[in-house]
Amino acid sequence: MSGTNHRIDGKRLWDSLMAMAEIGATPKGGVKRLTLTEVDQRGRQRFAAWCEALGLTMRVDAIGNMFARREGRDPTRLPVLLGSHLDSQPSGGKFDGALGVIAGLEVMRSLNDLGITTEAPIELVNWTDEEGSRFGHSLMGSGAWAGIYPLDKVYGLRDVDGVTVEDALNAIGYKGEAPAAPFPADAYFELHIEQGPILEREARQIGIVTGAQAQVWYDAVVTGQDAHAGTTPPSARRDALVCAARIIDLVDRMMRARGEDGRGTVGQLHVLPNSRNVVPGEVRFSVEFRHPDTAEIDRLAAQSRARPASSPATAARPCS
Ligand SMILES: [Zn+2]
Repeated sequence: MSGTNHRIDGKRLWDSLMAMAEIGATPKGGVKRLTLTEVDQRGRQRFAAWCEALGLTMRVDAIGNMFARREGRDPTRLPVLLGSHLDSQPSGGKFDGALGVIAGLEVMRSLNDLGITTEAPIELVNWTDEEGSRFGHSLMGSGAWAGIYPLDKVYGLRDVDGVTVEDALNAIGYKGEAPAAPFPADAYFELHIEQGPILEREARQIGIVTGAQAQVWYDAVVTGQDAHAGTTPPSARRDALVCAARIIDLVDRMMRARGEDGRGTVGQLHVLPNSRNVVPGEVRFSVEFRHPDTAEIDRLAAQSRARPASSPATAARPCS
């Protein structure tokens, strides 16, 4: 191939992104395309039709990962992988994941238009369930493919309605024939939007990922005592929500104590009995910490497992 700097068709890329964003579109302009749902199925089918129109060969593996292959000139060369994920969070954006997949598609389209045969084959990947929001297990498809998550265990994971991953794969017709097992590849490229504000803040158009955020997730349960809101005096209250609120504040303080790199989030809260005139007797909530440095995440995890009362972040016990 010559050294010409070939260009993609930016309008075609944009139009395809917008066409994918119609599937699962939300009123606020985002998408809700939860993994292995009927909406995800429609996204996959649209993607598969685009690949078919390009003459790519599609194979689907046992965890639903989709690989669309464009042959190269040299059959001994390992494939170059491009891709990302088409599933989204419940309140996802148009570009997260979809950009990586559809930008790869645009590369394939441009190669076809320009009549270019690459030396190595190229495979465009749509990984199943990158988000983890339905089955509580992020990077599920790539993790099963890489052999990090045992397939049987992944098949048995259930969503809030009790539907297993295996049932969901079968329901949408995406439990494929190919084994969910790693194959050698020459390289893997993933274009991804930045999910945070830093590039914009620094007026930069593009950056290179230097590391990923290590993360730990906890499910916390605070048990107090249900009591009448009108008749129970302060001295007799064991209010689980007030306790949870203080722990949530601690999580935020722990994050801020780590500077700009640390992340600490409570994003899910279930209050029982969730009645305006009952002192809450039980609260369940999620806690997650992230940090790019594994040693720091270990420290955060150890600190968060210690009794909250002994945390240096506060002098007072969070819950008496
Ligand atoms: Zn993503």
